[in-house]
Amino acid sequence: MSSVGTSGLVLNEKLIFEHSDPGRKGYSLPALDVPEAQLPTALVREEVAGFPELSEVDVVRHFTRLSTWNYGVDSGFYPLGSCTMKYNPKVNEAAARLAGFAGAHPLAPEHLSQGALELMFSLQQELAEVSGFPAVTLQPAAGAHGELTGMLIIRAWHEAQGNPRRKVLIPDTAHGTNPATAALCGYEVVSIPSDGVLSAERVAELMDENVAGLMVTNPNTLGLFESQIKEICEVVHAKGGLVYCDGANLNALMGIARPGDMGIDVMHFNLHKTFSTPHGGGGPGAGPVGVTAALEPFLPVPVVVREAGQYRLDSQRPQSIGRMRAFHGNFGILVRAYAYIRTLGGAGLKHASQMAVLNANYIRARLEGTYHLPYKQRSLHEVVFSERNLPNDCHTLDVAKRLIDYGYHPPTVYFPLVVKGAIMIEPTETESQEVLDEFCEAMLAIAAEARDNPELLHQAPVRTRVGRMDETAAARNPRLKWEG
Ligand SMILES: *Cc1c(COP(=O)(O)O)cnc(C)c1O
Repeated sequence: MSSVGTSGLVLNEKLIFEHSDPGRKGYSLPALDVPEAQLPTALVREEVAGFPELSEVDVVRHFTRLSTWNYGVDSGFYPLGSCTMKYNPKVNEAAARLAGFAGAHPLAPEHLSQGALELMFSLQQELAEVSGFPAVTLQPAAGAHGELTGMLIIRAWHEAQGNPRRKVLIPDTAHGTNPATAALCGYEVVSIPSDGVLSAERVAELMDENVAGLMVTNPNTLGLFESQIKEICEVVHAKGGLVYCDGANLNALMGIARPGDMGIDVMHFNLHKTFSTPHGGGGPGAGPVGVTAALEPFLPVPVVVREAGQYRLDSQRPQSIGRMRAFHGNFGILVRAYAYIRTLGGAGLKHASQMAVLNANYIRARLEGTYHLPYKQRSLHEVVFSERNLPNDCHTLDVAKRLIDYGYHPPTVYFPLVVKGAIMIEPTETESQEVLDEFCEAMLAIAAEARDNPELLHQAPVRTRVGRMDETAAARNPRLKWEG
């Protein structure tokens, strides 16, 4: 810490890891009161690694400072579409930290784990109620993992009928995890061109006895409700196939419509999208899966069941696809989702969906005249614009980078792939009208800058610690460790 400038800012720019002071330390250990042990020489380092030597104050300030350079849903509006970065009520955190939950050992016997098992059983029932599926597993650790679980169940069901079949139909608006999952399960992916929404006719053209099923997202990643979903399910079922629903967007439907009532056979939930619980940085999340009664025997083991007022883990299921995860899923996330559902209740969940849809439509109405809207059907919880109206060689990436200068995390960009230069905005139900208005003002100001001063967009961001990245170089030549 050599240069203490006149403003504290100079100091703040320095990374403490570059300022080691030999002999400085941040711990004080008690004197050794047991005999000193000799490590095998093969395990002893020849040289001590060059870690920085720092005091506790140095380290705390370093990490606290870094945390303020980050952007999170607790610090501002985070309109990433399809990801549902909503504010998570802190009461969920308090519940997850209760010692009986946070400290529970996953190998504790059933009679000492009745509270945890009851919570899991109740959450299964609540998710079943919201989705319209009679049975739910909580095991999968994320949405993609739920997809894998669901598609393995579909495969196991077909195998039990004597033929696993070869192909899976997936619309061109799908999240990349859908085709990846189908391929992992050994299926050939057949992409269905859709015009915003899927038509039952198109599905019928492609559906035959070699198709194991259809993977569909509803509402889809354009934020549009698949209005022919019932006919589509009938078409698939008529040829002996099953329908998988990617339920990542359930926050547009919960309390209003149930995928299980639409003819869907299997669906995953993203607890970290629909049912609050933190999300990002790679997790942990949770991707429970709901299934019809016919598919229940294939659920992963163990399944939480209730018998004579006691809860237990049932592993005696001969048709099960087996275990999908060690222990019982991301239990802390399950507690948070349970707390969220119990706090809101049925009416509150419905209200959350209504507000999510209202907020997305509010943004659509304010920006539609300025940004190009490729699909005119009614939006649900998210709205997708394109870069088509942007002048002066300004593109989606420029708008996203300029938004950072205005203090916002950018929306999802360049997805879904069917929209050239997609700008996908999902406000979620937790934002107020003032926040939405400020964001829309920023988007409109950026559109005006694109017209009058496009260089501002091309150079953005200019108000951040780090300027625009060379994304190609970052991908080809990543520097993944600190270099002093
Ligand atoms: C987020 C998402 C997924 C994947 O979920 P993860 O929890 O990130 O694995 C799949 N499909 C859609 C539509 C999504 O939005």
